Formats: sequence, C-alpha cells, structure tokens
Amino acid sequence: MTVSARSSRGRFDAVVVGGGVVGIACALGMADAGLDVALVEATEPPAWSPAKPDLRVYAFAPDNAALLDRLNVWEEVARQRAQPYRRMRVWDAAGGDVLEFDADELARPQLGWIVEHGLLVECLWRQLERRGVVVRCPARVTGLVVSDEGRDEGGVRITLDDGGTLDARIAIAADGGQSALRELAGIATDDRDYDQLGLVAYVRSEQPHAQTAFQRFLPGGPLALLPCTEGRSSIVWSLPVDEARRLQEMDATAFNHELTRASDACLGRLELDSVRAAFPLRRKLARAQRAERVLLMGDAAHVVHPLAGQGVNLGLRDVSAWLRGVRDAKAKGRDFDAPARLQRWARERRSDNAVSTLAFETINRVYSNDLPVTTLLRGHALGIAGRVPMLRHALWRHAAGI
Ligand SMILES: Cc1cc2nc3c(=O)[nH]c(=O)nc-3n(C[C@H](O)[C@H](O)[C@H](O)COP(=O)(O)OP(=O)(O)OC[C@H]3O[C@@H](n4cnc5c(N)ncnc54)[C@H](O)[C@@H]3O)c2cc1C
Repeated sequence: MTVSARSSRGRFDAVVVGGGVVGIACALGMADAGLDVALVEATEPPAWSPAKPDLRVYAFAPDNAALLDRLNVWEEVARQRAQPYRRMRVWDAAGGDVLEFDADELARPQLGWIVEHGLLVECLWRQLERRGVVVRCPARVTGLVVSDEGRDEGGVRITLDDGGTLDARIAIAADGGQSALRELAGIATDDRDYDQLGLVAYVRSEQPHAQTAFQRFLPGGPLALLPCTEGRSSIVWSLPVDEARRLQEMDATAFNHELTRASDACLGRLELDSVRAAFPLRRKLARAQRAERVLLMGDAAHVVHPLAGQGVNLGLRDVSAWLRGVRDAKAKGRDFDAPARLQRWARERRSDNAVSTLAFETINRVYSNDLPVTTLLRGHALGIAGRVPMLRHALWRHAAGI
C-alpha cells in the first residue's frame, strides 16, 4: 500500500518496525517531538467496522488514554466506540472475600475503558501520513546492521524484504511477540508456555453489566467479563488447552450454560453473541530492552498473561517513558539518542516489565489450582486487599499507571 514519496530521503532519526498499537503510537509521538520517523509494517491493517466488532479488546488504562489524547487520537476512538468502566470486581471461585474497585470511591470519572484493538490501530494508522511519518507497508525486516563507533557515525541500517534499505540513528522493535528485529539484534528471551489458551467472544447478559468489569479465578484459569457498548460484554477465559478446545467446539447452548456457571451468574444468564476464538498464552520476556541502537517496545519486549488485561498497557508505558526522554532531550538541546539516555530508559522499563510479567504469572499460578493451603491463603489475600483502602488505592493506582 503506502510507500511515501518522502522515503527517498537520506537518514531518519528513527525507524519503527511494527505498526501495531505500540509501534504507531511511538512513531506519532516521535514525529510530534520533531523527529524524522519511518515505520515498517508487514501487513496493512484490515479496516475496522462498527458492524464487525474485533474480538481482541483491551482494558485501556487512564494513563494510556492520556497518551493517545496527546497524540490527538483518543477523541476519535472514544467517539467511535469505547466503553468506560466504573467498577471492578475480583473474586475466587474457591471462596473468600471479594476485591472491589469503584470509581466514585477513588474519585475518578472512570477506572478505564474497554476498547477494540482494530479500532485503535485504525485511528492511529490514519494519523501517520498526516504527521509526516514515512510508511513502508507491506514490508518486512530481513536485515540489520548497527554501527556505534562515534556519536556522529552511530546508526542502524535496516534491510527490507523488497530489497530496500532504511538508515536511521535508532531502530525501535515493536513487531510483536515473534519480533524479527529482536532476533536480528541478538536479544534472547526467557519463555514459558502456560499450557493455556485465552478463549475470547462477545456475550449478552440477562442483567445489565452496569459498567462493571468482573474477574473470577477458577481452578483452570481466570475468567474476565469486560463491559462493552450496546449492552454486550467481552469474555477472556484462560483455560487449559484441552478444556479450551472442548468449550470452543461445543454447541452454543451448552457453552452458554457452562459460561454462566463459570461466571457464578454474576450477570445472570450469559449468551454467546459472536464466534469464539482462542489464542495461546505464554510469557516471553526479553533479557534486555536495548542492544546498542535498537530498543524493544511492547510485545517485542514482553508478552504477558492477559489476566490483568495489561498487555497493551505495558507496551504503551514503554512508549510514554521513551517520549518523555525524547522531549526532555529536545527541551535541553541534547541528543535524544545519547547512549546513556537509551540505557536509562531500557533499564527502567526492563525492571518495571519484569516485575509486572512475573507478578501476573504468579497470580495466575497461585489462583489456577485447587490445592487446599493455597486456596485458603488466597481467599484471605483478596480479603485483606479489599478491606484496606490504602492497599486497594495503591493497587488501582498501579494498574492505572498513575
Ligand atoms: C491473537 C491475540 C489475541 C490477543 N488478545 C488479547 C486480549 O484479549 N486482551 C489483551 O490484553 N491482550 C491480548 N493480546 C495481546 C495484545 O494484543 C498485545 O499485548 C498488544 O497487541 C501488543 O501490541 P504491540 O503493538 O506490541 O504488538 P502487535 O499488536 O503484535 O503488533 C506488531 C505489529 O508488527 C507487525 N510485524 C510483525 N513482524 C514484522 C516484521 N518482520 N516486519 C514488519 N512488521 C512486522 C505485525 O504485522 C503487527 O502489526 C492478544 C494477542 C494476540 C496475538
């Protein structure tokens, strides 16, 4: 599709590889900060249509809505379709207390928004050309050469599968969990297969969702019900692989029955309102977020368990932190790509992402079993978090990126 007329220009400040939510947001933010930016994407994103809701939805945190607002994209997303949610309820099927978050109690207009992946990508993508980002699509990265001898000489050369090359001061790998650029940069990952699938679908409920997100921990994995527009909810149900396949293939009536039971009928009877899809759940954590002049962001750096709906939120926090550094460098008249600045960003983000990734993994492991001792302890853990307002506030502030 797009090969911008400006792509013949010499060296860019930055080349972003991957045009998902994270890559495009990063490219737009850097362009707004006055950098010359190119973006490489393997596949042109399919058009989003309100009549065909995307099954991949995110619980979008306030700090990331603010980032998209600064990029002049959020208003369009919210106008098209974003469902604010005001309450969240978390509980364990094995018993114990309920952990609840309420926007009123936290003095916030909402806790976050439920947004479709396809809508986000479409609204972001539309801005690329307007903001002067050079787009190479469809194109895949096949080669990387990094030179870092002296400050002025330092840079990257990216080779594309169409035979073209792009030169830049830095490259950003935002090409997802199977990142080709991460491999070319020689950054290893620590991987773990959770032997679970995430089953996703839209459902209708007997009772209105009342802008409430639910998460119930079951022995096979957590079930999340996320409130969407037009009275629908989206489910993300983490399950052992065989169980997920069985539920995906069973007839709709039997599925509705099992789903309602698994949800503890928190919204009354639930009924499928879309096809069902499943995706494998695994952890992939890059051992570093930087190799010389290549920075990793989003799923290229960290693929996490979806139980807290934080996948895209963590990725956009990589972007926000990076853009703060770029703006700071510009304001002080310094190099945005000084090695010390790249290193500081990479160290801070790697540390935050590693803690979050392992925390989600631990919660999933502790709650996805029915061993008596852990069952007893975890019920109390939710109860303590639920009864201590300061702890509850701290948990929410962390999830909200505040
Ligand atoms: C099937 C699926 C379902 C998911 N469902 C949920 C969910 O329900 N809830 C949730 O919170 N999270 C979910 N996730 C995770 C969530 O989508 C990611 O955390 C988030 O999209 C990360 O964004 P990203 O921009 O870093 O990567 P991605 O969205 O993966 O974007 C990477 C981009 O890079 C492009 N690309 C890849 N290779 C190359 C290459 N060699 N050259 C050029 N371009 C390339 C791809 O085409 C893509 O556009 C799901 C992930 C998948 C794969």
